[in-house]
Amino acid sequence: MGVKIVPRYGKSLKDRLYLPAIFAGMKVTMSHFARNLKDTANIKTECYPEMQPDDITDRYRGVHRLTHRSDDSVRCVACFMCATACPADCIFIEATQREDGVDEKMPKVFNIDLLECVFCGGCVEACPCDAIRMDTGIFTFVAQKREDFVLSKEQLLANKEGKNR
Ligand code: SF4
Ligand code: SF4
Repeated sequence: MGVKIVPRYGKSLKDRLYLPAIFAGMKVTMSHFARNLKDTANIKTECYPEMQPDDITDRYRGVHRLTHRSDDSVRCVACFMCATACPADCIFIEATQREDGVDEKMPKVFNIDLLECVFCGGCVEACPCDAIRMDTGIFTFVAQKREDFVLSKEQLLANKEGKNR
């Protein structure tokens, strides 16, 4: 197979100095800077986190939640479909017998590791019971320790549908 040798860009002194290119870039930056100084109303940046975005779409995939039945019990039947579909392998479920006769099983443990999650929505798509959703609108999640990014069943059940926290 022939090797195509690509000539190095910039043979002239002007190109090799890089300064003209740097000044051209700075010219664009400064023109935006001057325009924003004159017309602050049209600045596209937001003062986050003082200002929270209000244009989160309904289809935004935020932090997960587990849904409830009408009697407020967990809807999940611990079928493991979401954990099987998860490409990041970040859902851990431990099933237990359900004693209220509503279904056979329920999750005793249901953890999602947000540090491994890629927010693909595969778990939501895979769930046959609409038991897991990503409609909380929560897009910021901060913690001091790695363990705190692992959401438990109780935390997932406490998360509510909404735009954001
Ligand atoms: S959103 Fe994707 S990566 Fe995250 S838990 Fe669900 S299936 Fe796994
Ligand atoms: S959340 Fe849905 S897919 Fe996952 S174990 Fe529960 S019922 Fe099955």
